[in-house]
Amino acid sequence: GEELTPEVANVVAHGMKEWALSNGATHYTHWFQPMTGVTAEKHDSFISAESDSHAVLEFNGKELIKGEPDASSFPSGGLRATFEARGYTAWDCTSPTFLREDAIGVTLCIPTAFCSYTGEALDKKTPLLRSKQAVRILKLFGKDDVTNISCSVGPEQEYFLIDRDKFLKRKDLIFTGRTLFGAMPPKGQELDDHYFGSIRERQASFMNELNIELWKLGILSKTQHNEVAPAQHEMAPIYDTANIATDHNQLVMETMKKVARRHNLECLLHEKPFAGVNGSGKHNNWSIITNTGENLLSPGSAPHNNTQFLLFLSAVIAAVDENAALLRMSASNPGNDHRLGANEAPPAIISIFLGEQLEDIVEQIIESGTATHSLKGGKMDIGVNSIPPVKKDATDRNRTSPFAFTGNKFEFRMLASSMSIADANTVLNASVADILEKMASELEAAPDFNEAVDKLIQKTLKEHQKIIFNGNGYSDEWVAEAERRGLPNVKTMVDATASLTDPKTIQMFENQNVFSKTELESRAEINYEAYAKAINIEAKAMIDMATKQYIPAVIKYTTSLAESINSIQSACPEAEVTVQTSILKQCSSLLTKAQKALIALRQINGDACIMEEGKAQAEYYRDHVFPAMEDLRTPIDELEMLVDKEDWPVPSYGDMLFEV
Ligand code: ADP
Ligand code: MG
Repeated sequence: GEELTPEVANVVAHGMKEWALSNGATHYTHWFQPMTGVTAEKHDSFISAESDSHAVLEFNGKELIKGEPDASSFPSGGLRATFEARGYTAWDCTSPTFLREDAIGVTLCIPTAFCSYTGEALDKKTPLLRSKQAVRILKLFGKDDVTNISCSVGPEQEYFLIDRDKFLKRKDLIFTGRTLFGAMPPKGQELDDHYFGSIRERQASFMNELNIELWKLGILSKTQHNEVAPAQHEMAPIYDTANIATDHNQLVMETMKKVARRHNLECLLHEKPFAGVNGSGKHNNWSIITNTGENLLSPGSAPHNNTQFLLFLSAVIAAVDENAALLRMSASNPGNDHRLGANEAPPAIISIFLGEQLEDIVEQIIESGTATHSLKGGKMDIGVNSIPPVKKDATDRNRTSPFAFTGNKFEFRMLASSMSIADANTVLNASVADILEKMASELEAAPDFNEAVDKLIQKTLKEHQKIIFNGNGYSDEWVAEAERRGLPNVKTMVDATASLTDPKTIQMFENQNVFSKTELESRAEINYEAYAKAINIEAKAMIDMATKQYIPAVIKYTTSLAESINSIQSACPEAEVTVQTSILKQCSSLLTKAQKALIALRQINGDACIMEEGKAQAEYYRDHVFPAMEDLRTPIDELEMLVDKEDWPVPSYGDMLFEV
């Protein structure tokens, strides 16, 4: 929180350099997270020339604190003109510097924030660091020793592992991260035999090496298991502060990709690599923790009596309700549009699952101002004498809820698997801080704190009860009910982006000094462009594959069928050729459909390409290009089920999902 003097910076830099050199490092890099969603780095060696023509290894405070990469080729959403190239990286001393070892050697990596010459954030980290929580409320509860509050985050990361040789045969996976064609194999995930299944050798050796690499980086990789879809897995680290968890999650994704290749595997982080089986997400476990180690979302044994907990709980409920569309936006990317609301991930409607115990307390408070009792978990009887009775939680889980209370934290379950978790946590932290600030002002001004706090909790819960939903989030009834309650149901990333520039959002973020209006507008622009570019690449990859791979393969196959019919008929005119003829007819008709769809897609995508970048272009991609892609996929997938496997130009879903 204070300025760093050059003297201190020089000492720290020297210490870092010595540590890095003693571990074999030759280079250092400012490591940052521009708006591309992936990390960026530019390496410099420690080498420096002395005037007497000696070379020495150097690293000083200035180099540690500030870097000056040319920023002109990073997305800025109109924040800057291309000729205004200067960008700065600034050392984030709250996230540990680390050493990375790979083919390039050992590199000292310094986590940094990235901003423009005029101080606007050009990255994902700066806004996250700007969000701060109010400690004022805790003073009112007599907790004077609390000087700092931070948010704890534990992200669960889902991913697919497939054989790399097969991956390299699929242009769609190479260029877009997901399959754009592919018929369903005879078996999908319907037997539920992959979920938590025993881990096979090849994947196990990947996980083993991944853990070693992550532990080396100081990332406390903890949990690993097979997920629902075939070839899908999950890993979770022990939670940390939101900032460190965000940096670490980026490293986890990078390390997964790197380690997979050592095993001739490819790690797919896309939200929907395969149609027809579950895609991947990220569960963002989130809580608020004080510098004295208290978890403010821990209900204790009698939550109905725990006023402090109930106040923080109601603040979270209010924040999520008021910023539902914005939270939805923070989990949006083109890939996640395939999942949210598709009965494999939470619906696109934000709601909160509290569980029976807390929902009962909320109802008591709303009805009579205070709660008098908490439902208890009790013991579980599984009917086996030899197994001692097991204590049961007060609440079951709900896997269909996007924002679920899980005992001492909330689990925001909407996040996209390939996306940085920075946006979601920035929104969560800032919106909860904003509510807490208002609450603190109200309570500080109240003559009787105890009376005022009970009233405030009741008022808040009453006002925001509509966001609480404990039922089945996948059901159609919920969609209708949510509409009655006035909850937003935002179906796509393009629609979600509007929330960034909603006056309510601007006010909240400006009030919290997290984003300026200009920064928000630029982020909306970046979103529209990113969406249009992603769909454009997908469309072009489809055009490429259809033109150069699928259509030629089908022509080859139909020709061989025709030749076979001819030769059979000339050798033996009485022989039946009805099977060949029927397949030939079906293939030819689908081939015609595919060619028509291909021509249409080329045309529509061409039209989209020349539109001006922005909202209208993104909408055009979503409403016209995307459906045209589906129209091309359908006949090709049908052809995959007819054409001789030997002639099919790419590995099938079955090959990729089951032969790993
Ligand atoms: P699940 O059973 O929901 O799949 P996992 O064990 O896969 O849970 O992951 C739970 C995650 O929640 C871990 O990253 C864990 O460290 C994290 N977590 C636990 N307690 C907290 C907390 N108080 N704040 C934030 N994250 C937490
Ligand atoms: Mg998990």
